[in-house]
Amino acid sequence: MADEASMFALAFRDSPIGMAILDEDGRYLEVNGTFLRIIGRTSRDLTGHYFGVHTHPDDLNRDVELMGQLSSGELPYFQVQKRFLHHSGDTVWTRVTVSNAQAPTGTARRFIAQVEDITEIRRAKDLLERRALYDHLTGLANRNLLIDRLTRALDGHEKRSTTVACIFLDIDHFKIVNDSLGHEAGDNLLIEIATRIRGCVRSGDTVARLGGDEFVVILDNVVSQAAAEGHLAVIAEAVQVPFKIEEHEVVPTVSAGLAMAEEGITAESLVRNADMATYTAKQGGRNRYEVFSSKLRNEALTRLSIEAELRTALREGELVVYYQPVVELATREIVAFEALVRWQHPTRGLVMPDEFIPICEEANLVVPLGAMVLHEACDFIARNPRFNGRVFVNVSTRQIGSADLTRVVKQALAASGIPARRLGLEITESGMLLATNAAHSDLAAITNLGVDLIIDDFGTGYSALSSVLQNPVSGLKLAREFTLRLGDRAIGDRISTTIATLTQSLNMYGVIEGVETEAQYRQARRHGWTYGQGYLFGRPSPVERIVFGADGSVNILPAPDATADTLAAQ
Ligand code: C2E
Ligand code: MG
Ligand code: MG
Repeated sequence: MADEASMFALAFRDSPIGMAILDEDGRYLEVNGTFLRIIGRTSRDLTGHYFGVHTHPDDLNRDVELMGQLSSGELPYFQVQKRFLHHSGDTVWTRVTVSNAQAPTGTARRFIAQVEDITEIRRAKDLLERRALYDHLTGLANRNLLIDRLTRALDGHEKRSTTVACIFLDIDHFKIVNDSLGHEAGDNLLIEIATRIRGCVRSGDTVARLGGDEFVVILDNVVSQAAAEGHLAVIAEAVQVPFKIEEHEVVPTVSAGLAMAEEGITAESLVRNADMATYTAKQGGRNRYEVFSSKLRNEALTRLSIEAELRTALREGELVVYYQPVVELATREIVAFEALVRWQHPTRGLVMPDEFIPICEEANLVVPLGAMVLHEACDFIARNPRFNGRVFVNVSTRQIGSADLTRVVKQALAASGIPARRLGLEITESGMLLATNAAHSDLAAITNLGVDLIIDDFGTGYSALSSVLQNPVSGLKLAREFTLRLGDRAIGDRISTTIATLTQSLNMYGVIEGVETEAQYRQARRHGWTYGQGYLFGRPSPVERIVFGADGSVNILPAPDATADTLAAQ
């Protein structure tokens, strides 16, 4: 018996787990070294003292109650996470298991407590919780916390006279900063913008980052839509202050959407409404905001149904390619065709690309669509051996780089058996500015195959010519808006002359687009343009209406009736 007692004493003293024996009133009778180390106390501090003295006040009531249940026999033991007050003043998190000691009958009741230090585990857990609720880059709320706060705000506001507004913000052209100046620069810009937005809101408002360059602000307790618009204006202005990244000055702007709480709306729907409004703001030219409305929702729904229809259209072959001639101005001889896609819609008739290409781009359908057009265009050349000119195909930025346009081009060339020099690609000036590094090497690979690359809609992208010419381009097309201004003896004529001269001196392939009248034709020639395209020389036509003669002539048959294509131009 004595041996057993001393064995127990040893085990108690040397246990790597903190241990204490308490009397019926919760006073320490015995404590071991590990327990003393955990809470940074000496045995003198504890022995004979009530356990509550070193217990965190927030945990005391619970512990007292549990000890009571242990005494009364309601519980055989209990285990809790409990905070002790360390000698240093810190709080120590522990896991404590307390049980009744088997005391011989007639002796007083004893409690045995086992104590493990779980401060590190708690710290890791707190960190995980923080990660789960906050954006690691900016420290702003993340989507989870945003939805949680917004749900609470929406629950609360029905009892008040004020309302809740949700602002969605998207940084304009963030991708350009990220791609051209690097991810670190991009991150710095995000952090700076987060700070600016936070600096504009009231203490009860929540600012969140949803990832990427999207931010959301919840205005709780806002009196009206006008007041919310006022807040939005303040934020937009604060964001616009020039910002220096390395030696570059960036003037950030945002496209924003505002949505006001409606009766019974959920947090997710309110954020989605604001997002939808932002989308419209971006479509409308960026650096502006839109307020969500049911009209806007209907437009979005139409888009969604068009998107669904387009998937079918691609499968069912409803997307067809028309070809518009490009002529040598001096002779009016057809030297090339531009492939232009149309949607032969089962009920709506011929739908023009401006209506569906942007939707394809958003919905990631432009990659399969682009591949289809490339294959068709190469086939067009292969099937018309009497024609020895080129075909130009429009490609959108999303087809280049990660979508591996080089591979698609190779496949189209191989399938049709035409040489690379018979194919050209057109990329808009703005598309070229948005191209990533991966895209630039994709373009270089394509030109190495022998396929020419030309800049479309030149003059509309506000780019420094030098930045566009960093790409392996061999030609450009003057945007139609300048052709419309030919003969104005002002900016239209000046731009046309300058660019024609430039094209010649760089020995590039220069095309003036949208020539509709003889007067424009004469001006174009006078300004020095070599090639032209426009209704004057021929409209975009389906293959059936393009007839190649044995003598090399090309005849474009008129449309049997006025289709949407010809109507659109009148
Ligand atoms: P774009 O590449 O600048 O094509 C020229 C547009 O101007 C065509 O419009 C053409 O029909 C129109 N056009 C040509 N001559 C005249 C003229 O004398 N007067 C007028 N008013 N218009 C003229 P379209 O076919 O509606 O195409 C619009 C845009 O859609 C194209 O502009 C191009 O950016 C895009 N697009 C067309 N097909 C494709 C495609 O297969 N892939 C991609 N990514 N984009 C395409
Ligand atoms: Mg084009
Ligand atoms: Mg164009």
